[in-house]
Amino acid sequence: MKSKLKVTFLGTGSALGVPQMGCHCSICSSKLKANKRQRTGYLIEKNGKSFILDPGPDIRAQLLDHPIKRLDGVLISHAHHDHIGGYDDLRVFSLIQEELVPTLLHAKTESGLLSRCHYLLKPGYTFFSLELLNDDLGSGEFEGLHYRYITYIQNGMNVTGFIIDDIAFVSDIQTVDEKLAQHLQGIETLIVSCVLKPYGSYKSHLNLDEIYELKIRTGAKNVIITHMGHDIDYTTLSAKLENDVILSYDGFIYEA
Ligand SMILES: [Zn+2]
Ligand SMILES: [Zn+2]
Repeated sequence: MKSKLKVTFLGTGSALGVPQMGCHCSICSSKLKANKRQRTGYLIEKNGKSFILDPGPDIRAQLLDHPIKRLDGVLISHAHHDHIGGYDDLRVFSLIQEELVPTLLHAKTESGLLSRCHYLLKPGYTFFSLELLNDDLGSGEFEGLHYRYITYIQNGMNVTGFIIDDIAFVSDIQTVDEKLAQHLQGIETLIVSCVLKPYGSYKSHLNLDEIYELKIRTGAKNVIITHMGHDIDYTTLSAKLENDVILSYDGFIYEA
């Protein structure tokens, strides 16, 4: 029997988190726990191993809330601060485990990571080892974890979507991309980012209509929305969603 994949949504907030500093809107002032969102990242557990996908700037608090015994590897989707701002904090596992922590990322993401975390990776002061992906899409095994991956572009930057078992982690998608829709055909669960209204003229994530469109085009059975800003009230939007599309919240656990 296939071992289950357990995904803990450590944070479900967009780049600035919710509440946003300095904002007094109804969502940022909300007392509802599901409206408090740290930056997006996941704890992925399978076959007794633990992985972090996207160590954002809130990772320390997140792993104090969801303790792990060891860290078997880190996966990085792209090198924006909200996805790698906590990479440095994970070196504690290198110290505890007395080994390098393997990190899987695309070759096009390497320079972004190195420019922010150069001191962590230089010779003689090394906590991590890097394993680079080179193609637009492919598959492999990372520390015993089977994965597929596909790359897409968000604001001119390469983003890597990881597919583990029947779950596709494709946050930070800007548009419904034909290549992506093709590649995700028949997937069981899609995890996607959502912004209801773009901030200013900047559109970096899918809106709800595009999420429904992606669900139809891929045939996905479930969609879990994450990476949400202060334009989403958990209670109001949850009540409107249909067709197996749900909102996540910090600490939400999904097993498949
Ligand atoms: Zn992001
Ligand atoms: Zn707000």
